Amino acid sequence: MREDREGFLQPHIDTDTCIKCHKCEKTCPIISPITIPTDFETQAFAAINKDEAVRMRSSSGGMFHALAKWTIEQGGAVFGARFNENWEVVHDYTETLEGIEPFMRSKYVQSRIGDTFKQAKQFLDAGRQVLFVGTPCQIGGLKSYLKKEYDNLLAVDLICHGVPSPKVWRASLSETIKEGKLSDIIFRDKQEGWRGVRLRYTLINSSSSAKDLQYYANGFLDNYFLQKCCYNCKFKTVHRNADITLADAWGIENYAPNMDDNKGTSLLLVHTAIGYTILSAIVQQINLLDINITDALKTNKRATTSVSYTKHRTVFYLLINIFPVSIVINGLLKIEKYKKKILKRLIKQK
Ligand SMILES: Cc1cc2nc3c(=O)[nH]c(=O)nc-3n(C[C@H](O)[C@H](O)[C@H](O)COP(=O)(O)OP(=O)(O)OC[C@H]3O[C@@H](n4cnc5c(N)ncnc54)[C@H](O)[C@@H]3O)c2cc1C
Repeated sequence: MREDREGFLQPHIDTDTCIKCHKCEKTCPIISPITIPTDFETQAFAAINKDEAVRMRSSSGGMFHALAKWTIEQGGAVFGARFNENWEVVHDYTETLEGIEPFMRSKYVQSRIGDTFKQAKQFLDAGRQVLFVGTPCQIGGLKSYLKKEYDNLLAVDLICHGVPSPKVWRASLSETIKEGKLSDIIFRDKQEGWRGVRLRYTLINSSSSAKDLQYYANGFLDNYFLQKCCYNCKFKTVHRNADITLADAWGIENYAPNMDDNKGTSLLLVHTAIGYTILSAIVQQINLLDINITDALKTNKRATTSVSYTKHRTVFYLLINIFPVSIVINGLLKIEKYKKKILKRLIKQK
């Protein structure tokens, strides 16, 4: 895998050593998509982890932690995304309860999958329970790599907006945090409530946290630096090849207001009997409500539709060769704001 100009890892074939077995093409979930089983009708739930502290440390309703805890209690291993020592996002695994913590919370950066498919297969072949959480394309890749179904695998994907560039993340960190060492980064800070993407970081030996990285979150939400394929994602379906899909229950205030206190509610889509059985095993730890899937997906468009391509993406990548990332993002956001203002005025005049 090699990082491209935009900062995304892309597969490269060494033509000198390639034996032309085409195994890479047969394993690629885009070139050779695997069929999704249709023997189980997807069911939707709204869910909240009863452990308030866990929920507040999670991005949504804290369902990942509940599934991870169950997996560890079965003697299993939990795979997910965490920060490494340079605050880059990487996939890794843990076999302990305390080890779950770094995997909690969404990191809105493309994670490096590394050797985790291989490691997960080793655990699965040894008969150990495995929870693997990733974006829908990562779970597609895992399933293609494994080539067979395992009863001891709980594959969990996310409703995914799209993954931002690791290069843009690195540049944002280095130009914003010039002094001091980071001790924590939260993409979904809940101090002002669950709704929104509020980025907050803390430095070692500092009692207060800072918000001046927020421009990165705003640029992510305006789609300036997502992976190109995210604008035409092949994994946008209701029924998935994961056992469970985790997401934010956006719009919950409309269809199940009792499950909304603005501290985070998860949307769960259960796609398989394995997913349903494991959800039943953790039901004591969560508040769970059966919901109408059409209601739930009406207010969470990213389940079934990709974000729109923006021409600003091309401009963004040209300009960051000359100007700091923060200046470019804030400039583009300002242009968008004025465009909207002018459009509103024109509509009013009509
Ligand atoms: C890039 C990205 C985009 C998303 N877009 C949407 C969206 O548009 N709509 C929506 O409803 N939900 C979206 N989500 C999902 C949402 O942010 C929560 O991750 C999800 O609801 C789980 O929350 P939780 O409270 O159960 O657990 P949390 O404790 O918040 O668990 C987060 C889980 O996500 C995994 N994870 C974190 N970062 C990454 C990453 N970069 N790549 C792969 N896996 C990761 C962790 O390993 C962990 O398993 C997105 C998540 C990511 C990572």
